[in-house]
Amino acid sequence: MKLHEYQSKNLFSKYGIPIPEGAVAGDVDEAVEIAEKLNSDVVVKAQVLVGGRGKAGGVKVAKSVGDVKRYASDILGMEISGLTVGKVLIDRAVGISSEIYLGITNDRRRRCPVMMASAAGGVDIEEVAAKTPDMIFREYIHPFLGLRKYQTRNIAFGINLPSELIADFDDICQALYVAYRESDAELAEINPLVITNNNKLLAVDGKIVLDDNALFRHSDLSELRDEKSEDEQEMIARKQGLSYVALEGDIGCLVNGAGLAMGTMDIIKYFGGEPANFLDIGGGATADKVSEALRIILMDPGVKVLLINIFGGITRCDEVAKGIIEAIEKVGVEVPMVVRLVGTNEEEGRDILANAELTTASSLADAAQKAIKLA
Ligand code: GDP
Ligand code: MN
Repeated sequence: MKLHEYQSKNLFSKYGIPIPEGAVAGDVDEAVEIAEKLNSDVVVKAQVLVGGRGKAGGVKVAKSVGDVKRYASDILGMEISGLTVGKVLIDRAVGISSEIYLGITNDRRRRCPVMMASAAGGVDIEEVAAKTPDMIFREYIHPFLGLRKYQTRNIAFGINLPSELIADFDDICQALYVAYRESDAELAEINPLVITNNNKLLAVDGKIVLDDNALFRHSDLSELRDEKSEDEQEMIARKQGLSYVALEGDIGCLVNGAGLAMGTMDIIKYFGGEPANFLDIGGGATADKVSEALRIILMDPGVKVLLINIFGGITRCDEVAKGIIEAIEKVGVEVPMVVRLVGTNEEEGRDILANAELTTASSLADAAQKAIKLA
């Protein structure tokens, strides 16, 4: 679950990280009111759950009330990467002398958190990571020892931080790590952490991604969920208890079981295709759930063919077949389907599908190759 910038920064602030003074507004009048209270130049910032808002025109410095009105009305309702802006954050603007990237995430290979920082922070950090990776400094955090001072100092030296800011920088790194750990986050990021014109560190942007599997023990954080601003496919999937991850390819996959779903994606890749998604309908899925799952997959306009791979154990093939028929009737499936059904009630499943227009496959390898050809 992603938190909005204002939510992330409020959380950071609770842990002692300095953030600009500001508040969030749902309409232009509110935005003006906040700006008038701040009584200075302000930044009007789109609150959407994607990055790159600055480049999309969703971050503007306003020098007057007129500016605030104009920018707030431009930005509210704006679409950024397919998501509509419902709120703007009005922050006191600061004079910036440099922008630092500072973040923590899990390093799956090392099996521990990693803190990363770069002197080349700001809106081009992805490019920095791709083109000049040696400008990013890393320290791996031992889960039992925590983040040590020598490590934050190493990072500070790496990014050439002015020596008078090192103590404050260490405090911010420590606070970020505690915030990350205590909220069970997958990512906690400040980009940019700026050095202001009067030589202070300030977290101008914030981002937190929480681990969905740990949300049950953070009721205060789960309440921050803003359904209106979530990706629609992901929201429906979450409500149906389906694990869905959108990918770039054109072969939509409906599979039961996470391992089988990964195996299906591997085989598609092996034969030269590209999966459009990961989707695990779980054990014992009912016809309803299958038809909802198909609806979610088909919301992706990039899907050219559906590959349904069911190994019937607890999941019954006839239930899945009913779900497919239901989806064809309710949702209208306009792309070709390749179906491989084996296991519990596979005969009944095949009978149900006998009159539907679809391609059947005898093995997963066969199914993958047929799907790729159709795509
Ligand atoms: P993002 O594009 O979604 O990452 O949004 P950010 O909040 O990081 O803002 C993008 C850029 O806007 C930052 O990298 C800064 O260069 C600039 N910016 C944000 N807040 C301020 C501010 O208070 N003053 C000034 N001068 N620039 C700001
Ligand atoms: Mn940013």
